[in-house]
Amino acid sequence: MEQSQGFESDLRDLEEQYGAHNYHPLDVVIHSARGAWVTDEEGRRYLDFLSAYSAVNQGHCHPAIFRALVEQAQRVTLTSRAFRNDQLPLLLRDLHELTGYERALPMNSGAEAVETALKAARKWGETVKGIAPGETEIIACANNFHGRTIAVVGLSTEPQYRSGFGPFPAGLRTVPFGDAAALRRAITPQTSAFLVEPIQGEAGIIIPPQGYLREVTAICREKNVLLIVDEIQSGLGRTGKLFAYMHEQIRPDVVIVGKALSGGFYPVSAVLSSAAVLGVFQPGDHGSTFGGNPLACAVARAALRVIVEERLAERSAELGEYALSRLRALRSDRIVEVRGRGLWLAIELNQPARPVCEALSRRGVLCKETHERVIRIAPPLVIRREDLEWGLDQIEEVLREHAAENEAEVESTQVAVLSR
Ligand SMILES: *Cc1c(COP(=O)(O)O)cnc(C)c1O
Repeated sequence: MEQSQGFESDLRDLEEQYGAHNYHPLDVVIHSARGAWVTDEEGRRYLDFLSAYSAVNQGHCHPAIFRALVEQAQRVTLTSRAFRNDQLPLLLRDLHELTGYERALPMNSGAEAVETALKAARKWGETVKGIAPGETEIIACANNFHGRTIAVVGLSTEPQYRSGFGPFPAGLRTVPFGDAAALRRAITPQTSAFLVEPIQGEAGIIIPPQGYLREVTAICREKNVLLIVDEIQSGLGRTGKLFAYMHEQIRPDVVIVGKALSGGFYPVSAVLSSAAVLGVFQPGDHGSTFGGNPLACAVARAALRVIVEERLAERSAELGEYALSRLRALRSDRIVEVRGRGLWLAIELNQPARPVCEALSRRGVLCKETHERVIRIAPPLVIRREDLEWGLDQIEEVLREHAAENEAEVESTQVAVLSR
C-alpha cells in the first residue's frame, strides 16, 4: 500500500519536474477507466463527473469504439490527404446523414476546427460577400471559450488566456453573450461571421435567454453574416439534443464539432456547413496531415453510432431533468444558483469551488471547478441512474459539510473576538 502510494506521488513528481505547468490538476492519477468510472493507481474508484470536458459522452473505453479503433489500426492508420482512404468518405456521408449538413471538413483538435471555420468565414467574406481583402471582421461573445490558438485567444475576453500571447490577428471583436441587440449594433458591412457557443460551457454553463439563438439567427440572415455555432462541448447529446442549437429550432450556417466525435479515443473534430461555405476552399488552401485520417474516421463513425444507437441525447435529457430537480432541491446558503440543460449542470457557489471538488474527490467523485466558483457536473451520458444518484448524494453531503465547517469557523472567530 505504502509502496503504491509512493508510486503515485513519484508519477506526480515526474510530471511536475519534466512537464510544462500549464494545468493545475486534482491529484488523482488515473490508471484505467470504463463507462462512468475511473480507477487510480491504488485501485480506488471514482465516478467521473467531468467526462474529459464532454469528450467521453459515450463513457470511457466504449467497447464498440474500441473495436473500431483496433480493427482499423490493424489495417492502416494514416495516409495523409495526398491519397484517398476508404474511411473518410464513409464518415463524411455519416455526418451528412446525421446532421443534414451538405459538407464536412475534418480536423483533429477543437481549436483547429474553430480556426478552420474562421478561415472559411474570412474567405467566404471576401469571395462571396465581397468584403475588401484583409477587411473581414469576426464577432464572438464575451466570456467565450473556443480553444487556445493565437487567433482563437485573440477572440477571448479572459485576461489570463491572452496575457503575454499577443499581438493577435486584426478584425476580431466581442459583444456580450445573450444580447442580440448588441450583436446587431456591432455588425458592419465588413462582418463575415458571428461565432457563438449555444450554451457557454467553460464560462460556467451559461444558458442564454430564451429566444436569443433565434434572434441572432434572424440578424445574421438579414445582414448576410454567417452564424457559426461552436458545439464542441455542447454537441453530440450533451444537452439532451443532438446539438444544443436544436433547443431553439434554428439552423446555423456552420457547426463545429469535436470532443465526443471520437468518444475520447483520438482527437477528431470537424466543421459542418453548406457547399457554398466549405466550397471556398480550393486544393492547397487549407489542410492537416492527420485531418481525415482513416483511424480517426473509423473511430468517429463508431462514436457517432453509439450516440444514436444508445439514444444518448434522450438519456441526457431524462437523467439531466432528474439531476437538475435534485440539485435545485438542495438547501444551502453556499449555493448562488443551480442551472443546467441535459446532463450538463452547474452549481454556482458564493465561495471557491476548488475545496468542494477536492472534498468530492476524497469521496470518490471527480468534478472540476470552472471559473473559481462554479462546479460543473457532466458525467458520461451512459452513466447508470444509481451511479448518478450516488454521485449527487456525495455532492449534497459535501455541501452540507462545507456549510457546517464554515459555520464552525465563523463561531470560532466569534469566540476569539469575544475572548479578546
Ligand atoms: C474544448 C473546446 C474547444 C477546444 O477544443 P480542443 O480540442 O481543446 O482544442 C473549443 N470550443 C469549445 C466550446 C470547447 O469546449
